[in-house]
Amino acid sequence: MAKAAKELQQASSKMVCSAEWSEDKELLCFRDKIYVSQNLDLQRRVVLLCHDMKVTGHPGHWKTLELVSRDYWWPQMSRYIRQYVSTCDLCIRTKPIRQALVGELHPLQIPDSRWDTLSVDFVVELPHDMKRYYDQQKTLAPVFKPGDKVFLDASDIRTTHPSQKLSHQRLGPFVVER
Ligand SMILES: [Zn+2]
Repeated sequence: MAKAAKELQQASSKMVCSAEWSEDKELLCFRDKIYVSQNLDLQRRVVLLCHDMKVTGHPGHWKTLELVSRDYWWPQMSRYIRQYVSTCDLCIRTKPIRQALVGELHPLQIPDSRWDTLSVDFVVELPHDMKRYYDQQKTLAPVFKPGDKVFLDASDIRTTHPSQKLSHQRLGPFVVER
């Protein structure tokens, strides 16, 4: 008690004089809650009573805070309790993850032949700076008419060659039909 009062006098005289403080027998109370001094071991024992006992069953941060604040108070107790609960060994090891499970990835089916399937990714809503950069790099798509012959860049096309290194860089020529 004497120690706690001394601590408070050091902290702020305005705080001690406040009507919210009172003495109950040997205890110093703040808003009718027992003031717990800045003694980490004492704070730990108080939280342990409200969190680790079998009757309370390791509740989460808010429930533990509610249980502690029924009778006790100290500055920044919420932060201390959050840290206590998030580092509780039994909670970490035994509590289930309540997040929805992440789904499985379903890769696209491999097409039977070349150019069987084409897909295009549109990149939209870029940040302003990125948009400006990509707009600068933009080149207009060439216009083809039926009868033109084209070569295709083979870097993204799977061929029967044993490795990418041994395969042709370009495939073709192909005739544009329509
Ligand atoms: Zn726990």
